[in-house]
Amino acid sequence: MTASPGSPPATTAAVLATRAGGPEVLELREIPVPVPGEGELLVRVAAAGVNFIDTYRRSGVYRIDYPSVLGSEGAGVVVDAGPGTEGFAVGDRVAWSDAPGSYAGYVVVPAERALAVPAQIDLEVAAALPLQGLTAHYLATSTYPIRDGDQVLVHAGAGGVGLLLTQLAVARGARVVTTVSTEAKAELSRAAGAHHVINYRELTDLSAELPPLVRAATEGGAHVVYDSVGKDTFDASLASLRRRGMLVLCGGSSGQVPPFDIQRLNSSGSLYLTRPTLGDYTATRAELVERADELFDAVLAGRLSVRVGARFPLAEAAAAHAALEGRRTTGKVLLLP
Ligand code: NDP
Repeated sequence: MTASPGSPPATTAAVLATRAGGPEVLELREIPVPVPGEGELLVRVAAAGVNFIDTYRRSGVYRIDYPSVLGSEGAGVVVDAGPGTEGFAVGDRVAWSDAPGSYAGYVVVPAERALAVPAQIDLEVAAALPLQGLTAHYLATSTYPIRDGDQVLVHAGAGGVGLLLTQLAVARGARVVTTVSTEAKAELSRAAGAHHVINYRELTDLSAELPPLVRAATEGGAHVVYDSVGKDTFDASLASLRRRGMLVLCGGSSGQVPPFDIQRLNSSGSLYLTRPTLGDYTATRAELVERADELFDAVLAGRLSVRVGARFPLAEAAAAHAALEGRRTTGKVLLLP
């Protein structure tokens, strides 16, 4: 059906995970454009963020019903608004981190979770920021509030979360050590402010070889390790901490960490271990908006640089997933409807 000028069309392209599996289970299909209900905005998606959690949902690591439109992050323009969406209007530019079905031309976003995008911020940058940016923000300010002079280890320093977290940690006065897998990624990590970069792919035994390198680079061990890599780095991360340090296990890019003997925290130096998730640090609108506003302000002031490392057409979502899982991406990966 042809849409009248300004109104949304009847159908839109969307990427669905048809069953649990590899990138090949992703299919581009035409689906009905959703109708916004109470408290909901209908948004024309300018760019959708690709995140590791999308791959967990696609592969079955996190359970979802199939078929299901993937994606939860993006930015775009409001084209319709249901009742109870005061504060937003048709034509507004918004971004979001948690609207299911964002790999599509149109998506419904709860007004409660929509972020007003400042006029000077490009919609691609706005789409690149919410999920990884809010994550970097809560990790650096709340999970472990980084203090001036702290020694910090960030794994996957050239990744989406890694580049943003490095910048926020440096801005808070930390000395930041990162791990990366290539020299090109090392350069990006240094440009984000990392003081010392370790290529962990050159090490044959991460658990034995990485901790001494980190200890040498951090005057005896890190106050905090942000470990988004998970299975492959977990043991090395624990051994890289100084006494009473904190391991923030924030992801599983290499696989999930198996069950853990809590006595290891005792014998390794009264360590802390936490496994945080974004939803618990943006549970209220006030907290969500406060974090997002700080990020947007930092971008506007030139204090935070957002790297969009790759853009794929919506139809090539499978290639985007393969690149992310294959360690071939840096910064943010976007899908463009
Ligand atoms: P990244 O851009 O960081 O991509 C993942 C990176 O992990 C790769 O580029 C790679 O960097 C590194 N890596 C190391 N080993 C592997 C492996 N075996 N397979 C794939 N990648 C590997 O992704 P994101 O920034 O989107 O997310 C990073 C992590 O943070 C994810 O695990 C994600 O689930 C998690 N996350 C957690 C949140 C939370 O609230 N807890 C919220 C958002 C993200 P290199 O080549 O340098 O090794």
